[in-house]
Amino acid sequence: MHALMQQRPLLISGLIEHAATYHGDREIVSCQVDGSILRSDWRQLHARAKRLANVLTGFGVQAGDRVATLAWNTHRHVELYFGVSGMGAVLHTVNPRLFAEQIVYILNHAESRYVFFDTTFTDLVAKIAPQCPHIKGFVALCSRAQMPALNVARLYSYEDLLDGASAEYAWPVFEETRASSLCYTSGTTGNPKGVLYSHRSTVLHTFAACAADGLGLSANDSVLLVVPLFHVNAWGVPYAAAMCGAKLVLPGPGVGGESIFRLLRDEACNFSLGVPTVWLGLFDYIEGSAAKLDVSTMRLKRVVVGGSAAPRAIIEKFEKHFGAFVIQVWGMSETSSPATIGNLLPKHAGLPLERRFDLQVLQGRAIYGVEIEIFDADGSPLPHDGKVFGELKVRGPWVAGGYYRGDDGAALDDTGWFPTGDVATIDRDGFVRITDRSKDVIKSGGEWISSIDLENAAVGHEAVQEAAVIGIAHRRWQERPLLVVVKRPDKEAAPADILAYLQDKITKWWLPDDVVFVDALPHTATGKVQKLELRERFKGYRLPTDQS
Ligand code: ADP
Repeated sequence: MHALMQQRPLLISGLIEHAATYHGDREIVSCQVDGSILRSDWRQLHARAKRLANVLTGFGVQAGDRVATLAWNTHRHVELYFGVSGMGAVLHTVNPRLFAEQIVYILNHAESRYVFFDTTFTDLVAKIAPQCPHIKGFVALCSRAQMPALNVARLYSYEDLLDGASAEYAWPVFEETRASSLCYTSGTTGNPKGVLYSHRSTVLHTFAACAADGLGLSANDSVLLVVPLFHVNAWGVPYAAAMCGAKLVLPGPGVGGESIFRLLRDEACNFSLGVPTVWLGLFDYIEGSAAKLDVSTMRLKRVVVGGSAAPRAIIEKFEKHFGAFVIQVWGMSETSSPATIGNLLPKHAGLPLERRFDLQVLQGRAIYGVEIEIFDADGSPLPHDGKVFGELKVRGPWVAGGYYRGDDGAALDDTGWFPTGDVATIDRDGFVRITDRSKDVIKSGGEWISSIDLENAAVGHEAVQEAAVIGIAHRRWQERPLLVVVKRPDKEAAPADILAYLQDKITKWWLPDDVVFVDALPHTATGKVQKLELRERFKGYRLPTDQS
């Protein structure tokens, strides 16, 4: 029997309509590329998104056409989020930190028709334009007066286009299963793969993000969005902020410690999101100028950390400096980002801080809408005892079922689960602990050592700025861990000091066999340590414990 409820499609345009109608004067603060700060609100953003939809219609952009961005977190980029998807085209956010060849590959693979770019990326556009025959035009995200010198056919000024377009536009109504946006994974081990989200998957994920036991976003929040709009739809927060009418603070190109600190303070942000590297930068700034900084007016209360494991040191520092609670999330492009969220349970109320930190270093519990399971090599599910490691698989209405243009064959295993490539434990309460990417696991004497646990422990040492652990071939144990460390410029430590520090923080036999200092670690375009490259660099390395 069919039910008798209305079949209104879940569309992204509905989110911005709602924000403009019910939270129209809630602020959007945008740091622009020229250094100025623009203050607007959801009503103005909606009007400009409609102008943009008219511009795209005038360009001949059709439903399903891909429209790409190479841009920072600014109001214009958020307008693209709603204008492009709202009119039925597909927003294709490209990570400008990728190598030019990868960007060319991605733009050609997606056959994107237009590219909207911040003027910071003018040289990049000049380089890639001749290699991307599908692109019909480039739009610089600036006024006519700020137009860059760039020799490409059909170059436009965004503000000029918007000025010339009407703000009258009726968002089209279509099936919710149509594609709304496209993000490519960073492709550390091959060509990037396209994850194609739908209006339905996006709106459903947005409900989960706003839910109290999700990210719990509400109209009362002032959100500093540090996670880039080109990284997995900024973890869904632009949509969630529109759904609940939160104040949105967009840092533009300035994601260094000082500018983050200023924005948090000046815009009274109580909520923020970003990858661990960004927060390390914030604390470097704070600790470097502690005597001069007044944090008494800061309102920061909740900080979402994901993308890589949140080191305990970051969790402790947020508590110490701001009394702020770190919510660790785990997710990937293929899960529309946050899939497990580190909210605590009623039984954890009143835990001593140290015990609470023990829970916060875990990756959290599955939110409704995402099913998770760990499996052994034969595909049998493993117990949720918090000890046994297995491959983490997920399924749900906002988890990818395949890649754009069928790349990489079937994305799902033959029982319909998506294999994440992450190795994890799940405990009795459902808390996930990611121990490694499956290709980064260290196999020592038939047992596994978690590089993430070792790295987390190492960054707690005051002289360690950043740490990575890789497996090094060992004649007796097959592999043993090597700790690679970037030291803080103002601190000194010898390998033995760091090993002594680790001694009581990790399982005894996990202690790295050696520590080496390097000037910098290689990173992917989304800030993760590139273990593949690091392993390559230390290929012939002989550990002191492996002497004949
Ligand atoms: P890419 O950086 O390759 O574009 P994603 O941003 O989708 O891809 O990265 C997803 C991967 O990042 C996950 O599979 C996992 O390995 C890692 N990751 C994300 N969040 C966490 C976390 N909180 N702890 C540990 N690893 C994480």
